[in-house]
Amino acid sequence: MSGESDHIPFEALLDLVEERASAGQVAAVQAHIETCPRCERDLAWASRITSIMRADSMEDAPPHVIARAVRALRPEVVPEPAPGALRRLIARLQFDSGAGLTPAFGMRSGQPDARQMLFTTEEVEVDLRITPVRNLWVVSGQMLGPCEGGSVELVSCPKTHTAILNELCEFSLPPVEAGSYTLLLRYAGAEVEVSNLQIGEGRGPA
Ligand SMILES: [Zn+2]
Repeated sequence: MSGESDHIPFEALLDLVEERASAGQVAAVQAHIETCPRCERDLAWASRITSIMRADSMEDAPPHVIARAVRALRPEVVPEPAPGALRRLIARLQFDSGAGLTPAFGMRSGQPDARQMLFTTEEVEVDLRITPVRNLWVVSGQMLGPCEGGSVELVSCPKTHTAILNELCEFSLPPVEAGSYTLLLRYAGAEVEVSNLQIGEGRGPA
C-alpha cells in the first residue's frame, strides 16, 4: 500500500498508457489512482500526450513540434496577474536531488530519474519536479504556503510556456527542451522567481 506522498512517476504512467506495464504494475497504478486525484490527472495527461503522438505519427518529430502539439492539446486560460505592482520574491534553493552528481546521475534502463528541487521564499516553498519524457522535460510541482491559485511561466527567451496554478497550487508545464530557464510563479499579488533553472543539465543530445 503506497502512501499519499508516494506518487507514481510520470514514466510509469506513460508505460501504462503505452501498454508496456505488467498486469501487476497496472493493478498497483489503478489502486493508487482511485485515491489520488493528482496521479489521476497526470495519467489523463499522459494518455493525451500518447494519443496525439500516435495519431500524428510524431515519434520522430522534432521536440519543438511535439511540445507545440502537446501545448495545443492543453487549452488553458491562464489568469492575468492582478493589476498593480507584484511583490517579487526571490526563491532560494534548499535542496536539489541532482546537485553535485555526474551526468549519469540516476540513469536506470537508459532513462534518468526525475530530479527534485525545493526552493524557499519569505512566504512560500516551491516543490519542483523535473521529469524526463523521451527527449523532453516536464517541469511540475506545487507551491506550499498562502496560495489559492494563480499562474506559472517558464521563460527561455524568446519562448514562454505557461500553466495554471490550481487551487492546491499544483502545476504541470508542457514538455520543454533542455536549457536554461526562469520560472515565475504568480499568486495573490506576488511573484516568485526561480532564476537560472538548468533543465536537462548534463544530459547529452538524445
Ligand atoms: Zn499520487
